[in-house]
Amino acid sequence: MTHFTLTEDHRAVRDMARDFAAEKIAPHALQWDQDKYFPVEVLRQAAALGMAGIYIRDDVGGSGLTRFDAALIFEALAQGCPTVSAFLSIHNMASWMIDAYGSAEQRSKWLPKLCSMELIASYCLTEPGSGSDAAALRTRAVRNGEHYILNGQKQFISGAGQAGLYVVMVRTGGEGASGISTLVVERDTPGLSFGANERKMGWNAQPTCAVMFENARVPVANRIGEEGIGFKIAMAGLDGGRINIAACSLGGAQSALDKSLSYMKERKAFGKRLDEFQALQFRLADMAIELEAARTFVWRAAAALDRKDHDATMLCAMAKRFGTDVGFEVANQALQLHGGYGYLSEYGIEKIVRDLRVHQILEGSNEIMRLIVARKLIEAAR
Ligand SMILES: Cc1cc2nc3c(=O)[nH]c(=O)nc-3n(C[C@H](O)[C@H](O)[C@H](O)COP(=O)(O)OP(=O)(O)OC[C@H]3O[C@@H](n4cnc5c(N)ncnc54)[C@H](O)[C@@H]3O)c2cc1C
Repeated sequence: MTHFTLTEDHRAVRDMARDFAAEKIAPHALQWDQDKYFPVEVLRQAAALGMAGIYIRDDVGGSGLTRFDAALIFEALAQGCPTVSAFLSIHNMASWMIDAYGSAEQRSKWLPKLCSMELIASYCLTEPGSGSDAAALRTRAVRNGEHYILNGQKQFISGAGQAGLYVVMVRTGGEGASGISTLVVERDTPGLSFGANERKMGWNAQPTCAVMFENARVPVANRIGEEGIGFKIAMAGLDGGRINIAACSLGGAQSALDKSLSYMKERKAFGKRLDEFQALQFRLADMAIELEAARTFVWRAAAALDRKDHDATMLCAMAKRFGTDVGFEVANQALQLHGGYGYLSEYGIEKIVRDLRVHQILEGSNEIMRLIVARKLIEAAR
């Protein structure tokens, strides 16, 4: 990006994702939501276009693109369906953790299959007793020769049951962040099981389940990095994950705004088209302004992460807070502009509102984003 202009390459990447979303995702999004259908075959088609290993190095089948490219891709895919785009973002995040911190052997064993999505990855940090306070996790991994024996439970795991690989944060040492390590757990591991698919408000086109470990034996060779750096790996993954989730909010909201514009030029009240009322025109303008501000912010955070700027983590947290709040508000306003029809599922707006709501909660809630920003501010002022 130079002076906030997309290059030709950026536009090509974005348009590829946009076309894919329009052709392969958007026409089915409402049905998938209703049927709680996880479209694995469509995810694999996206993978064939390089969207499952966007910022994975190319020696193992990744696309070797940037976080900035990823933000463009996830926004474009979310215009078709935020839930499908968000799942792909989680898969990219978990795969990147193996790429960035895994050994040469681990990279060549798993990443080619992850980039083609022959293997799907889940990210397992949250537990029933620890969400925001993730460093308090209790899933225990005790070393026994060349294996770890795992006991504990993860909660709210996206893709669980369907994913082939679980990137799991476990406790190998004492209390706190420094006692946490990262293990890759394969689906056929004895002692690994899954809870029922949760019934939820949105994000229905991907499963969310508990993941249970009961004396699950995981080879020590599946540990990513040294013991004790698991929390650092998990948080590094989330920096990029937060940009991606914010980008998914932008895409969902953009689609809701576009639907509103089409609707308002047809719908009449008091003898005028809705888009002729100045109050509503101003509302549309505010929605577009907020969205553009959020987009600019997400791009700035993505560029900072690409450069590994010292304030990248804070910018990612800021952009996640801002982008997901704006995305939800814009979608909710779009619902209002549709009147009663916005509340009916066939118009596709209420689904976007339901899908975007959870972006304010997960990958670190927006309160936790404020906590990260406030800590940095106060630290800098000391
Ligand atoms: C659909 C869905 C999919 C998910 N997918 C995954 C996944 O794939 N992998 C994974 O690991 N997790 C996943 N999560 C879990 C998600 O990341 C957590 O729900 C989230 O981090 C919040 O944790 P919690 O639900 O335990 O809430 P809590 O931590 O109990 O928080 C409750 C409320 O208190 C607030 N709060 C907590 N601490 C503070 C504080 N210090 N200051 C101010 N406010 C605070 C929170 O912001 C929140 O509003 C998913 C969740 C959902 C709903």
